[in-house]
Amino acid sequence: MILGCIADDLTGATDLALMLTREGMRTVQSAGLPPDDLDVNNVDALVIALKSRTIPAADAVKQSLDAAEVLQRLGAQRLLFKYCSTFDSTDDGNIGPVTEALLGVTGGGVTIACPVFPQAGRTLFMGNLFVNGIPLSESPMKDHPLTPMRDSNLVRVLQRQTKLKVGLIHYATVDAGADALRKVLESDREHRIFIVDAVKDDHLRSIGAALSHLPLITGGSGVAMGLPQAYLAAGLIDQLTPAAERMAAPQGCRAILAGSCSAATRGQVRAAIAAGIPSFRIDPLEIADGVQNPSQLLQWVDRQPADKPFLIYSSDEPDAVRVAQERLGRDKAGIVVEHLLGAVAAALPARGFTRLIVAGGETSGAVVQALGVKALTIGPEIDPGVPWTRSTSKPDVALALKSGNFGSEDFFLKAWDRLS
Ligand code: ADP
Repeated sequence: MILGCIADDLTGATDLALMLTREGMRTVQSAGLPPDDLDVNNVDALVIALKSRTIPAADAVKQSLDAAEVLQRLGAQRLLFKYCSTFDSTDDGNIGPVTEALLGVTGGGVTIACPVFPQAGRTLFMGNLFVNGIPLSESPMKDHPLTPMRDSNLVRVLQRQTKLKVGLIHYATVDAGADALRKVLESDREHRIFIVDAVKDDHLRSIGAALSHLPLITGGSGVAMGLPQAYLAAGLIDQLTPAAERMAAPQGCRAILAGSCSAATRGQVRAAIAAGIPSFRIDPLEIADGVQNPSQLLQWVDRQPADKPFLIYSSDEPDAVRVAQERLGRDKAGIVVEHLLGAVAAALPARGFTRLIVAGGETSGAVVQALGVKALTIGPEIDPGVPWTRSTSKPDVALALKSGNFGSEDFFLKAWDRLS
């Protein structure tokens, strides 16, 4: 194993694992610290998914250091810290404190911070992050309930989170290529963390070529784009392994569980219902009142045709979500939905279900935990950022874990075609 990765959430980890797989590295992902019996002999990269994006900074540092220790023990020669491509964080952290701590265990040199992902519309120019061409501070991220991003300048954002000096490697240097980039990094004695501009994939590949020697790299999944090729050129891996077009999955029934209220997921739910997929809508208020519960849902599950997937969803419009949150509190409204979907998911393998799509980052975390899935191999890409995965141990299930806003409208209909 060459590359050890620490991701601050589950679907972000999957996104990174897919990027590495697509670019030729054999990658495995674990939910939390990897199980002791995880075989990493034929693995180039291991991605540990934490749930550390919005927990107190000290906890995020501790969990990240524990993960780093395991990765280094398993042989990782380089570490990558993966966070969101919209740099989701607050003045307290957690990107700055975790980066600082990881620099401490990787030799104390310098590192970069680059959340750029042009395919998803995330670009960085003169230190300013744009989301689909809109400055971060004017994008919907300005109203994020947990990590409102009100400053587009990432040098300033990150500097507020760390005592290490933050610098900028700007567009002109990156555009001049790998040699220019390396020179700036080698000659600068003032800064320890560099925000790196990039607006297209070529820039990310240059960054990979120039900086693959760094013991620690931080960023979004895009920053990993150039690494596999660079590790090959440096002789760290023998060959690149082509990503599979399809994935073998155990035969069995199919289910879709959607706990995301993002616009993309709501569209996917509508498209699935319009296509005749049997569906059951759950509602936090009815769950809290005890009207909806696991045994009622499982009775419904048992009545569905075996040859079709079904859909259970809580996805709702912002106004309805607000009403539920006002009555129950934001956390409880989320938790009751997550618990119910988790309870249903946990009962599915014994009923012959082997193929599951889950929509929503937090929802995916709850479902993976309820299933008892510890680690995943990465299969083919369904849509940008979302691969099929397969559990490495019991229960043997294929899982598509979809960040709420990812995927095309027909995602719930077409994803199955990638399984054989
Ligand atoms: P996304 O990836 O779109 O952010 P998540 O699963 O991470 O999706 O987050 C959605 C959160 O909203 C979860 O905690 C989920 O339980 C909660 N939720 C789902 N449906 C509703 C609803 N109808 N009302 C209030 N909260 C909801």
